[in-house]
Amino acid sequence: MTESSLHPWDRAAPERAGKPSAYALLPEDFAALGAPGRAEHLFVQCQHPWAWVDDRPRLSRAIREWMARNLDLVLPEILERRVSEDGSTKLVLGLSDGEHIEAVHLPSEFRDPRLTLCLSSQVGCAMGCTFCATGAMGIKRNLTAGEIVGQVLVLLRVLGIKRTQRITLLFMGMGEPLHNLEHVHRAIRVFNHKQGLNISVRRITVSTSGLANGIERLARLSPRPWLAISLNATTDAARSALMPVNRVWNLARLRQALAAWPLGARERLTLEYVLMAGVNDTVEDADRIGEWMGSLRERHNLNLIRMNEHAASAFKEPDEGRLVAFADRLKARGCFVTVRKSRGRDVQGACGQLVRADSRRG
Ligand code: SF4
Repeated sequence: MTESSLHPWDRAAPERAGKPSAYALLPEDFAALGAPGRAEHLFVQCQHPWAWVDDRPRLSRAIREWMARNLDLVLPEILERRVSEDGSTKLVLGLSDGEHIEAVHLPSEFRDPRLTLCLSSQVGCAMGCTFCATGAMGIKRNLTAGEIVGQVLVLLRVLGIKRTQRITLLFMGMGEPLHNLEHVHRAIRVFNHKQGLNISVRRITVSTSGLANGIERLARLSPRPWLAISLNATTDAARSALMPVNRVWNLARLRQALAAWPLGARERLTLEYVLMAGVNDTVEDADRIGEWMGSLRERHNLNLIRMNEHAASAFKEPDEGRLVAFADRLKARGCFVTVRKSRGRDVQGACGQLVRADSRRG
């Protein structure tokens, strides 16, 4: 297969052609590469941004010289930082080849040391969901595992996050993470490592538009993060119109993949439903969700999200009365419903709004 015959989302990420990223390596990888010093020490230093000096790990000169010769040490660069009036922050990050991605920091709404980072997994997205600004941008390439981990390390550093704060990671930013499963999963292994950031898989959620085969692949991997599905419609016709993925993996096939997902102790499936006025917000839609879920209702959270309006889409958010009626109908059907507060809207950092203004098509 030639480079030009690959899908855009399979396009070689920069590190495959060159040195491996220091930030995507596990201790055993440092050892296999013949790194000087203790492999665990190198891993800890690379993964603990609290200990860095001048945005770089604190290591001896000999080790730094070995790393400079053998590893890619480039981290994403913060290009723009926009703080929302609700306290969330959208960050635009520049990658080594000049591409841009976006990430969002959502501080806890409560007085405790929790924070959530919403991460990108690709530059753009191939899925073409019609309500999403990233979808309108199209796909440029996958992120490497080093870029995904680097995204988090840079955010922790620049936001001044303390080691004691409990971090939750959501792969809900730009991209379809299951189109980049190899690199996303490598990053999850690094995040989850006891000597690194040590983030439990219960606090890492991968959100997919509904790639049933990707869900089945992820189900077989270890460590396995929690799973979220972007549902958004209740008939195949309506869902295919909103989300082209449904033409390949329809609602019945998606339901089959979810039913086979091996839920861990206390784990719940998350279903995301973006409510769009006059499109998917009737009580009949709510009834169909209940029917479609069937036994999935026992272990799930259903998040209702008001459409975040943006220039690349004509969809509007529903009025409050319709939203309440929709939520009440779902609850009557036995669903665990949360109406999500949209955060970061004023800085285009809310769900479905992530895109560089200069990247929009047409
Ligand atoms: S909603 Fe997610 S999967 Fe769909 S186009 Fe946007 S980023 Fe891609």
